[in-house]
Amino acid sequence: MTVQLAGIIVTKDSPHYDVCCLSWNRAITRHPSMIIYCQKTEDVVGAIQYVKENNLSFRVRSGTHHYAGYSTGDDVVVIDVSLMDEIKLDDDVVTVQGGVRNRELYEVVCQAGFPFAGGGCPTVGVAGYTLGGGWGYSSRLFGLGCDQLIEAEIVVSDGEVLVANRHQHQDLFFALRGGGGGNFGVVTSLTYRLPEKQEMATLINIDYPQVGIEKVAEVALTYQQLFKDLDRRMNLKMAMYHSETKGIGVKLTGLFYGSKTHAIHLLAAFSSAPCVELEEMSILEANRAIQDSHPDFEMYASGGRFIMRDYTKTELLTMLHLIQNRAPGSVYTAITFYGLGGAISDISSEETAFYYRDARFILGFQSVFEDKGYKEQNNAFVRERFNELCSYTKGSFINFPIEQGENYEKEYYGDNLARLKDVKRKYDPINLFKFEQSIRG
Ligand SMILES: Cc1cc2nc3c(=O)[nH]c(=O)nc-3n(C[C@H](O)[C@H](O)[C@H](O)COP(=O)(O)OP(=O)(O)OC[C@H]3O[C@@H](n4cnc5c(N)ncnc54)[C@H](O)[C@@H]3O)c2cc1C
Repeated sequence: MTVQLAGIIVTKDSPHYDVCCLSWNRAITRHPSMIIYCQKTEDVVGAIQYVKENNLSFRVRSGTHHYAGYSTGDDVVVIDVSLMDEIKLDDDVVTVQGGVRNRELYEVVCQAGFPFAGGGCPTVGVAGYTLGGGWGYSSRLFGLGCDQLIEAEIVVSDGEVLVANRHQHQDLFFALRGGGGGNFGVVTSLTYRLPEKQEMATLINIDYPQVGIEKVAEVALTYQQLFKDLDRRMNLKMAMYHSETKGIGVKLTGLFYGSKTHAIHLLAAFSSAPCVELEEMSILEANRAIQDSHPDFEMYASGGRFIMRDYTKTELLTMLHLIQNRAPGSVYTAITFYGLGGAISDISSEETAFYYRDARFILGFQSVFEDKGYKEQNNAFVRERFNELCSYTKGSFINFPIEQGENYEKEYYGDNLARLKDVKRKYDPINLFKFEQSIRG
């Protein structure tokens, strides 16, 4: 029987094809043969049957934010769930369909007074974010995005719709919490238990523009020191940057679930920074402000690893030499530390697929450019420096993926890899869900 495709089908001849091909990272220019915009779970089941029956390569896509573009491809079918965007809030439990993005989710839960351990970028897909673990400014207090997940609905390779939670398909539930997007099936719905309601938070922006690498290293030492016993209600991201407009500097951005007065006390070591902005506001306003600081799209090369220990000033300076010059065409390059610890490390490495629970920070390396012609140079710049940073760091963060050698599975999943391969063999025995860095059963 030939499968009748449902949903909205876009092909190379469709009027909006070019727009439908866009990824958030505009440096990614892939041309799928067909994009199937699914509108309900049955459409996803039909799409899976269709690609199987016709022996077609395909990718799964939601918010299009994959750093390296593995949610799309040339001449592949894209199964896109972005139109599946319903959100249902029932007391402290929220259920979202597979295509919901951060901003819409924050609007619903924060208006009801609930925080959510989501990401900062408004257009990141909640499914992609959660499947990769999900780091956010609220994670030290409430855990990673995946730690709030209590259930997921997923269409697997035989076309069955499964529900995974603590009681059924526990092995799959383990894998869906940090095992990365696109590996086990198409997630059509996610249910989260929300943390206790919070009224206010303090938004933190501290910037040291044009200060040079010596000063940046000193600020980084202070930041590391602060994290030794930092109140888990606070989280801070530290970007050590070299920007076209602001030169070499360092910027701390963050959130504190507490008063401005208390935040000033905790951040006293940074009080002499040229720019210190601490503002107390509702959690809805705070999340909106964080989201609004993101551009609508960018062209960039990037990747992320884990930091397991503090660095000496000499080590920090060695790392900072990597951004002393920018790649050709680059307007911004940065080494960024994303705070971990707190509730993230309360959970053991074996409880969910997110392995690096005891890391101190995630390290991101990034180069942003504005002309596509510089893509290869920026990719090479980031890859080379990323390799140099390997000796200081461990593993690799699946939500900040980067092209790397054959060993990528071990890098992303550490000692959880063997279990993830078992799950892959059980739920996708024909290795249907396959892409450049998928888990191999
Ligand atoms: C600007 C920006 C900011 C970011 N900020 C953060 C952050 O603060 N914290 C953080 O943890 N990460 C962050 N990320 C990374 C982001 O969480 C991951 O890239 C995530 O995978 C994106 O999901 P997506 O749906 O938007 O992307 P897509 O490109 O659509 O998908 C990403 C991956 O997930 C798979 N996937 C998507 N939807 C589904 C589904 N329904 N079922 C199964 N697989 C699916 C895809 O096949 C692909 O492998 C950021 C990325 C960007 C570009």
